Amino acid sequence: MTIQPRRITLDEWDIRYIELLGQGMVEPSYGGPLRRHVVDGGDTRLLKLRYDDSAAALRLWNFLLTEDDRLREARERGKLLIGTMKDLGTVPVMAYSGPNVVAFYPDGAWWIPCMMEMSAGLLSIASSLGLDETFCPVRAMIGAFVTQAHFPIPDLLTCSVGATCDDFSAIAQRLEGLGYPILWWEIPSRRKPDAGEEAITLPGGFTAPASQVAFVRSELERVRTAIADLSGSPLDDGALKEGIHAANRIRRILRELRTLAFTAPICPIPALEMLIAEMLAIHFCSDRDEAAAVLGQLLDVVRTRVEAGVGVLPAEAVRVFWVNPVADLRVMNLLEDCGGRVCGTEYLFSHALDDIPEDLPPMEALARMALADPMVGSAADRARRVVNDARGFGAEAVLISRIPGASHCAYEGAVIGEAIKSELGLPVVEIEVPPIADALMPTLTTRIEALMEIRRN
Ligand code: SF4
Repeated sequence: MTIQPRRITLDEWDIRYIELLGQGMVEPSYGGPLRRHVVDGGDTRLLKLRYDDSAAALRLWNFLLTEDDRLREARERGKLLIGTMKDLGTVPVMAYSGPNVVAFYPDGAWWIPCMMEMSAGLLSIASSLGLDETFCPVRAMIGAFVTQAHFPIPDLLTCSVGATCDDFSAIAQRLEGLGYPILWWEIPSRRKPDAGEEAITLPGGFTAPASQVAFVRSELERVRTAIADLSGSPLDDGALKEGIHAANRIRRILRELRTLAFTAPICPIPALEMLIAEMLAIHFCSDRDEAAAVLGQLLDVVRTRVEAGVGVLPAEAVRVFWVNPVADLRVMNLLEDCGGRVCGTEYLFSHALDDIPEDLPPMEALARMALADPMVGSAADRARRVVNDARGFGAEAVLISRIPGASHCAYEGAVIGEAIKSELGLPVVEIEVPPIADALMPTLTTRIEALMEIRRN
């Protein structure tokens, strides 16, 4: 018999942890009670979140919250560390194809101000360097480089440039100015092919001129050469093909997980754990094989719950499609507290969820995937994908969470919202979520509850 799963607090996790150990739970080397991340790591936001109560969710959280330890171990073992900035899903696939290479996203520092409830001072450091609150919270990354308290300084830093938001360009340029050399690789703004121009359909369905794909491929070749030179091992097509195959394996697990989680009659897993699961697919949390195992265990739990017809929320929860990641993770809980459930997401990297073509030369396949990034094309393109996905998952409402200071959000939310209303006739609400949204909780609650009400009526 499947036991009714629950969303629980950290206090409840203390008890649940002992219970699971008593039931014979076997943990990986990075396992342990969640509370240690508050006590030893200062991740005090964990005290305010609610979690899935499964051993799979515990493993997911522990895997996420021990990435810095893994990076330090990798450094000690002599692995090449690559900080891959901004591309969300392309360069890590290349990097993990090489032996002895570990890649991570310094951009992930985005969530440190939330997790540590501002105690790390990263945003203040960014402000002192001229990157104030008019920039998006990714400016925390520069504070993490300055303090060197969160991740080891990579041996190689890459950053995509060209069709990149102003925020990231400015922050990465400032970082280079501070003495951290960056290998810039350019990705052009994806455009529609002209009449008669050779066109290529990209993973996910967008199209681009063949000349743009060829250009991105040549740019990625420079990245390939740099990784090979620094790691001392050639990154040949055979290795890249294997790397793409391994990345696709993870993407397929995630796809099944998303489909089950978003379409099951009763929500089988909370939105917060699903957000973390999606993030693993773009960077593997510094251990690609373990990422696959962590997601596989989560998928097993979700399958079991769906088959048993049990879940973590009431069956009548309103099915909400969520656009953009939130700087404060607590807001993912808030949606569920207000009577909603997440049924579909677009967290700025939908291209990293699609299969990378395996029937093409690997660099061609990677170039096509990079150009399929929703953030390098028009807002209308992105809106089209959101509409299609929201329709596919049967969403009943759409929530667009704006990112404070983010240069891409000013009009994009309106474009996406209009497309949703005109093509699907669904209610849409926009909210803005800073890294710590406690002071805004009454306002956010009112707006989200209004969305639920509109849908129910
Ligand atoms: S502005 Fe948007 S795309 Fe740019 S770094 Fe911030 S969240 Fe990412």
